[in-house]
Amino acid sequence: MELIIENLMKTYANGVQALNGVSLTIPQGMFGLLGPNGAGKSTLMRTIATLQDASSGSIRLGDLDVLKQHEQVRRQLGYLPQEFGVYPRVSAEMMLDHIARLKGLADSAERKQVVEALLQKVNLWPARKRNLGTYSGGMKQRFGIAQALLGNPKLLIVDEPTAGLDPAERNRFYNLLSEIGESTIVILSTHIVEDVQTLCKRFAIICGGEVLYVGTPHDAIKMLEGKIWAKSIDKSEVDDYRNTYRVIATNLSEGKLFIRIAADENPGNGFEHMKPSLEDVYFNAISTKMDLVTL
Ligand code: ADP
Repeated sequence: MELIIENLMKTYANGVQALNGVSLTIPQGMFGLLGPNGAGKSTLMRTIATLQDASSGSIRLGDLDVLKQHEQVRRQLGYLPQEFGVYPRVSAEMMLDHIARLKGLADSAERKQVVEALLQKVNLWPARKRNLGTYSGGMKQRFGIAQALLGNPKLLIVDEPTAGLDPAERNRFYNLLSEIGESTIVILSTHIVEDVQTLCKRFAIICGGEVLYVGTPHDAIKMLEGKIWAKSIDKSEVDDYRNTYRVIATNLSEGKLFIRIAADENPGNGFEHMKPSLEDVYFNAISTKMDLVTL
């Protein structure tokens, strides 16, 4: 099964054009949607999750018209929104049982089995009796995945799930998602390049409501081979360099500023050639867009 998005547009009532002709074909596996804040990721996620309308365009999930057949799509869909609130005084086990009942699992013995399997899968079985209010950020996110997986969705949407997780929790969460991605379409929206680098076979960069790149991380990095240069400069020089070169990253270290630029030819001037990274791809893509926006 594939999710096919064609020429999706969304203009909010206040005139903000959040999606400007988005077209993407998303097969089974982990697909990353990478973009800065305000890029339009949540708008796209919520539209795919049938929670809001598009202005025009189409979305198909297999045979289903996502923009029209809301009920049928919801039966195939798991969604972990950006702001996932939990009832703090209810245990994970009770809450999951409750959501399962709401999702139509009427048989209590079957429900018990499903809830146990999910709690095991997300590694919360030992903590199942604890109230959700006592859970860490990572545990809450894993609980969020468990509720999203109720009903065996064919499509799982996770909106910025790793923000605020510490490295160990993030790792655990990565493992869980990559396991799910073996049998499901998983769309992971994120502004964290590492999420895509670690998990996604394919990804898109979105900015200003437009898709700037879609493909594999490997191919994206290859496109920048021979084009990334770096040098350390004095902090006071940074504006001059910005005016002369396409600066895609600046890092401060021991009072010196290390800048990375993108240039097709060797810029000379003490710049050294660097191996491109996915971060370079991302910042280069969105800086192009930002330039267009400021023009
Ligand atoms: P992201 O998830 O990438 O941060 P969003 O989809 O939340 O991006 O937002 C895209 C743009 O649409 C932003 O400019 C945001 O301010 C605007 N926006 C989002 N939701 C609404 C809304 N309900 N009404 C008006 N503008 C909105």
